[in-house]
Amino acid sequence: MSLPWARIFGSLRSHLGSSPLPSVSRIASTNTTPFHILVSTMISLRTKDEVTLAASLRLFSVAQTPAEICALSADRIAELIYPAGFYRTKATSIRETSRLIVKQHAGQVPADLDALVALPGVGRKTANLVLGLGFGIEAICVDTHVHRIANRCGWVTSRNPDETERKLQEILPRAHWIEINELLVAYGQKVCTPISPRCSSCVIARQCRRIGVERSR
Ligand code: SF4
Repeated sequence: MSLPWARIFGSLRSHLGSSPLPSVSRIASTNTTPFHILVSTMISLRTKDEVTLAASLRLFSVAQTPAEICALSADRIAELIYPAGFYRTKATSIRETSRLIVKQHAGQVPADLDALVALPGVGRKTANLVLGLGFGIEAICVDTHVHRIANRCGWVTSRNPDETERKLQEILPRAHWIEINELLVAYGQKVCTPISPRCSSCVIARQCRRIGVERSR
C-alpha cells in the first residue's frame, strides 16, 4: 500500500503543535537516560499520563540508577509510584528488572529487543519505546492508540498490537518508526478517541477509511 506518509505525519505534527507530549516522551525530552525511559514506561502501563509523570519524578528524586533502585525495598518503590495502576506489581518488576540490569548488563539498559523483553514486566511495547526514545534505534511502539488508529484508517488490518507492529514495518518508511507512537498517542487522546472520534475536525480524514467507526463527532 502506498500512502502519503510525509503528508500524514506533517498534518499530525502541525495539528498537535504545542500540545503536551505523552508522559514518557516528556521524560525523554529532558536530559535523561534509557533507564529512566524504561522505568517510566513500566509505570505508564494502564496509568494516566499525569500520574505517570508525577510517579516517575517522585521515584527518580530518590533513586536514579538501577543500583540505587535495587537498594530500595519493593514497598518503598510502591509507595513512591502510588497511585499508578498495579503499583505493587510494577514495584516488584521495576526492582527485579533493575537487579538484572546490574547483574547481567553491567548496570546499562541493553539496546536490544530480545534482551529487553527478557526482563520482568517488559513487553514489546515497552522495549520498542526504550529502543526508539532511549537509543534512537528505529522501532515501532504499538500501544492501544497506534493499534486503534492504524486499523480505523485502514493502514493495516490486524487483531493485536504485535500484528500491527509487523504490518506497519512493511508499509511505513523507517523515518517515521519512532515518531508514530508519540504522534498517534497524542492524537488518540485528543481527536481519534476510542469512543466517538472527532472525525469532523480530523486532519488526516482523507487518509482514513473510518473502519469500524459507528459514531463520531
Ligand atoms: S477520520 Fe475519524 S476515525 Fe479516522 S483518524 Fe480521523 S478521527 Fe480517527
